[in-house]
Amino acid sequence: MKAARLHRPGEMSVEDVAVPIPGPRDLLVRVEAAGICGSDRHMFRGEYPTALPVTLGHEFCGIVEGVGEDVSQVRVGDRITADPNIACGHCDACRAGRVNLCANLQAIGVTRDGGFAEYVVVPEGQAIVLPAGLDPLLGAFSEPLACCLHGLDVARIKPGDSVAVLGGGVIGLIMVQLARLAGAGSVVLSTRQAPRRELALSLGATHAVDPSAGDAAAAIRAIAPEGVDVALECAGVPETFSQALAVVRRGGAVVLFGVMAKGTTVAVEPFDLLVREVRLESAWLNPHTHARAAAMIAAGQLKLAPLISRIVGTADIPAELMAEPRFGDIKVMVRPG
Ligand code: NAP
Repeated sequence: MKAARLHRPGEMSVEDVAVPIPGPRDLLVRVEAAGICGSDRHMFRGEYPTALPVTLGHEFCGIVEGVGEDVSQVRVGDRITADPNIACGHCDACRAGRVNLCANLQAIGVTRDGGFAEYVVVPEGQAIVLPAGLDPLLGAFSEPLACCLHGLDVARIKPGDSVAVLGGGVIGLIMVQLARLAGAGSVVLSTRQAPRRELALSLGATHAVDPSAGDAAAAIRAIAPEGVDVALECAGVPETFSQALAVVRRGGAVVLFGVMAKGTTVAVEPFDLLVREVRLESAWLNPHTHARAAAMIAAGQLKLAPLISRIVGTADIPAELMAEPRFGDIKVMVRPG
């Protein structure tokens, strides 16, 4: 089969490899669709640790074509999504139920071969069966949606709350929708690309601001003079973290979701956070949220098709990861073969 294999930072090739053999508790899954994520770019550049060599691809959906002898729930022919993060179940974090903080976390498409290939092996316990008729391109959103759902859980948005989403990539555009589904009365998105702002308004945002047009925090404060109840940082840049702290109201919450490069620092004024009792939270990965994400996609609760900007083949993956994201792209999907 063809697989996009990362050998060293910056060195990836699409090559012929043997179809993997599932272990007794594993599924052999024919990949139908896999999303390219910003983390894949970080891994490609060596900015995020991976096993090497490895087939990347942690957001995927496919059909089960083989099962190990001890597989009991999933059947050949099922369409599944996989929670890529495999917790050890034994460390302190796992025993406390905080599986995303597992000290020995393994991940499909990071530390073991993933979905940028024709086939991938998935432990049965990581698989969630999707409806047979679901478009696999939508099923491949399960992983990013699952991460967003954890962000939403952490944010504790209440009906009627005001929310600011800073950064309008795929994550921000999903967060806009989740905030409205959680009952937010107003959602303002800040992002530089005008088509994304228009899209956000069509997806449920009540306001959209352009941070390149001036002071984004002031623009959000003009919409919500007392500040917002919840600010979700979804860009992964220092400015948006500072803006989130500036736009949150007294007693409100800031959720750090975007990934800033290791070593990045941001100035904060502890006195200001203290006397305004700002709840400062972070949300990492998808603890116990993958099945909920799959259920929401199966129920058609989110508009995900408008977030797909391009579909490419396996052979295109190295060039996609080498290049900066193209203007206008939101989610680039891979369809193997
Ligand atoms: P993305 O496609 O890079 O989207 C982020 C967007 O933020 C950019 O495309 C950009 O859009 C916007 N942006 C950049 N600078 C900005 C600024 N100064 N003000 C306002 N917007 C700005 O990434 P994504 O896939 O949506 O993911 C968002 C972040 O979440 C990334 O850092 C990603 O690594 C992280 N992430 C975290 C988790 C987790 O578990 N915590 C899971 C998945 C992803 P414009 O060009 O329109 O401004």
